[in-house]
Amino acid sequence: MIEKKPLTGLTSKELSALATVLGAPGEYGYVIAKWIYRKRAKSLSEINDLPKRILKELEQEGYEISNAIGIDSFPGTDGSTRYLLTNPNGQYYESVFMDNGKRKTLCVSSQSGCRMGCRFCMTGSIGFMGNLDTSSIVDQVLVVPESKSINRLVIMGMGEPFDNYDAIEKALEIFTANWGLALGKANITLSTVGIANKLEPFLSKQPCNLAISLHSPFPEERAMLMPVENSSPIERVIDILKRYPLKKPVRLSFEYVALSGINTSEEHAKAIAALLKGLKYHLNIIPWNEHPAAQFNKPEKEELYRFTSWLNQNGVLWTIRHSKGNETGAACGQMAGKWQSTS
Ligand code: SF4
Repeated sequence: MIEKKPLTGLTSKELSALATVLGAPGEYGYVIAKWIYRKRAKSLSEINDLPKRILKELEQEGYEISNAIGIDSFPGTDGSTRYLLTNPNGQYYESVFMDNGKRKTLCVSSQSGCRMGCRFCMTGSIGFMGNLDTSSIVDQVLVVPESKSINRLVIMGMGEPFDNYDAIEKALEIFTANWGLALGKANITLSTVGIANKLEPFLSKQPCNLAISLHSPFPEERAMLMPVENSSPIERVIDILKRYPLKKPVRLSFEYVALSGINTSEEHAKAIAALLKGLKYHLNIIPWNEHPAAQFNKPEKEELYRFTSWLNQNGVLWTIRHSKGNETGAACGQMAGKWQSTS
């Protein structure tokens, strides 16, 4: 049996090389890319401006547009829907659509599970089932039914994008290229724990907005919450960010999961301001989303109010982001793929 191969995940250049191998002009690659990413063709038979012979040859070689399989969807009452997907490698991963009126956001995964082991995160607790290839990353934007309407894309689902750098780099090219999904780079945000040796190549290209997970300004406490601090200290990350500042239209932000009684003191507010001094950034505070795999508490309104007042006093610009998808296990840090849906 011929192995099925997806065309999603290939760049226009790679599709041109494929056309050439089949004895067709390289420009056909550009035409195929437009059908896949712009016209969102579901099957090769929809392509009506290329010779039938080429399409037949692609089919005979085992190519198909996509090989993602949608397994289930979990609509919430807050305008979000969690989608559970799988691919022929047997990897499970999740995407979440969030409808905020004019703002329609899709959150995509970069890995199946995650090996970063952040203590507050459900995904971190289920372990690592492997990197997603570019096809499975890009497919999420093509397969989710509402994805035609999205105007924001966030790479904040399962996994650490910088731990799957090559696949993410190619996916970003497809998300932003004219022959691809043509999303503006200021409308895409990649969230990372901050793996220093991947930060430099990312910042030299600046393909989209960058969100760094901070969660504590104190190295020891951050290492307790995020083991990555031991191999990639936040001070080194900040140093790189200062050397390669993000330039408009892309922006830098820091993510801060607020854990009651842990990281919301006046000392934390002062230390955040001191640590990030000299950078142009915004701090996104995410009240922790409860799940069974971690023993933290969500801060009450009063605690958040006190914390944000101290941030104000120290000149930190912040926004509290209440995650959507709490009731369906789709909120930040709650994604658990197959495991959560079957529990
Ligand atoms: S917070 Fe992100 S990087 Fe950390 S374990 Fe969860 S998915 Fe991985």
